[in-house]
Amino acid sequence: MKLMEYQGKELFRRVGIPVPRGEHASEAKAVGAFIAANPGAWVLKAQVQMGGRGKAGGIKFAESADEGKKIAGDLIGMTLRGIQNPQGELVKSLLVEEKVAIAHEAYASITIDRTAKKPVFIVTAQGGMDIEEVAESHPAAIAKYWVDPAIGFQPFEARRLFYAAKLPAGYGKEWPKIAAAMYRLFFEYGANLVEINPLVLTKDGRVIASDAKVDLDDNALYKHPELLAWASDSPENEDEAKAVEIGLGRSNYARLDGDIGVMANGAGLGMGTMDAIRNAGGKAANFLDVGGGAQAERVRKCYELIVSEPKVRAMFINIFGGITRADQVASGIVEALSGGSLRKVPLVVRLTGTNEKEGRAILSKAGIASVETMDEGAAKAVALAKGAA
Ligand code: GDP
Ligand code: MN
Repeated sequence: MKLMEYQGKELFRRVGIPVPRGEHASEAKAVGAFIAANPGAWVLKAQVQMGGRGKAGGIKFAESADEGKKIAGDLIGMTLRGIQNPQGELVKSLLVEEKVAIAHEAYASITIDRTAKKPVFIVTAQGGMDIEEVAESHPAAIAKYWVDPAIGFQPFEARRLFYAAKLPAGYGKEWPKIAAAMYRLFFEYGANLVEINPLVLTKDGRVIASDAKVDLDDNALYKHPELLAWASDSPENEDEAKAVEIGLGRSNYARLDGDIGVMANGAGLGMGTMDAIRNAGGKAANFLDVGGGAQAERVRKCYELIVSEPKVRAMFINIFGGITRADQVASGIVEALSGGSLRKVPLVVRLTGTNEKEGRAILSKAGIASVETMDEGAAKAVALAKGAA
């Protein structure tokens, strides 16, 4: 589970990594009110998961309530695009933070080195927005330090890293505490990544985590179930939350960028279906795996989830009846379509396997056309999405 900056900083606070004073807000009015109550210079930071917000225009400065409210109004609701995310990501909230006077920007992270089977610290004095460029053209400026997890992270190791990374002297006193806290966070919360870029040395000598990127291992979330509430905040986790809400597994639903909704049973058949759509010249808008033994009620909920995505212009339901009985699926589809509140999109169904005859009969009685093969279905779906059939 990737965390937003404001969430990562909440964890930083818990383990004692210093962060700027701030307020998380999802409305421009609240931003204005906060600055009015706390006069000074503030940074407005778009809360998205993509990196490179600074370069994409997602980091702004404001010195008055009016200015803050105006900028917040522009940022919230905008789609932020960058090299790291050409598709763009919707800005739903901001972090308003005390603007600090920066004397130096360093970079520090800890992640797992799978080859070494150890956590590794990656630290460089040359932090900031051009870190990728530093990694490419001055790899020697980047210090790495592998920690033996059986022993844990020792203060002398932090000092070694300090010299290896050539951190300016001003970091000397705080760095060992920050590194130890990063390590503790990494273990206590089961993180895949804890990254601070920039780790700022302020002009008045403080060391502060100005940014926070934390990625938690989903398999470790049981240690801190209270954090699950954060899941719905991110676009990828939104899909997971929707899948779980209708009783599917976390990875059974995914949004994509085409215009055809895909429902299949089994991830493999789903992939095959999307390939078939590709071959027919189309693209999937989303994909849903209804799983095995799909009951009519579940199929109805799945149908609703697929059409809830506005990009969907046609739907292809591709079911291989094994444990899943084709007649159950057919009943679910018919039920779904007879429900009043649904958005209806042109539909093509392929049912095969257990009880396929019964299933097709149910569909045809309800006036829903079905096809025999996957390629046929894909071609039909592409034509339907273009409005040509
Ligand atoms: P990112 O681009 O998504 O990594 O967002 P960051 O939070 O790292 O911010 C990008 C850049 O904005 C930083 O590298 C700083 O140069 C600048 N910035 C962010 N906060 C402050 C601040 O409080 N004061 C100043 N002077 N610059 C800031
Ligand atoms: Mn950053």
